[in-house]
Amino acid sequence: MSKHPTMCDLCQEGTLEVKQGLNTVTYKNNTRGLETSFCECDVCGTEMALPEQTRDNKRRMTAFKKEIDGLLTGFEVRALRERFGLTQAEAAKVFGGGVVAFSKYENDDVSQSEAMDKLMRLADRLPEVLMQLKNDAGLNPPSNVIQLAKWQLFVKDAANEEIVDENFLQVAETQAVYNVSTFEKAQWAECQEC
Ligand SMILES: [Zn+2]
Repeated sequence: MSKHPTMCDLCQEGTLEVKQGLNTVTYKNNTRGLETSFCECDVCGTEMALPEQTRDNKRRMTAFKKEIDGLLTGFEVRALRERFGLTQAEAAKVFGGGVVAFSKYENDDVSQSEAMDKLMRLADRLPEVLMQLKNDAGLNPPSNVIQLAKWQLFVKDAANEEIVDENFLQVAETQAVYNVSTFEKAQWAECQEC
């Protein structure tokens, strides 16, 4: 929030000082003290929360609820999305939820549904599920990295070599659905000639 002092609207004299407190909340029989932000006037003593403080307080509550409900936290949703190689908009195309859904999940503005949570975890466990969902969403899977992985796989396969590079193995495994058996070898062979 802004570091500039804000005048008190009520007494028109005092300055609003930023305060931190502890707000005891209960959700599904779980009680916890959540950090809460507010302002207090140094003249009339009025307490109020600025819009960004209200937003942050609400986010802390949503994060607490997610934890109790066993849902991925906002931080975990962001980490998964990034591991999936998706922007927030792409993630919404792949998993649903609308264009701003992932911004809201990741900022703890709202909780993702249990169904969304399960689908994301499943896509994390099974790369072929993620690839299928990406295909269904019409996203172009072959990035430069994948092209490179396919190329390396083809070359090593053609040379009948063992694949020993761990980083490469990880990429190849993630993109298992695009393994060399379904890949157009002829096309790559032609490219090699040029
Ligand atoms: Zn005041």
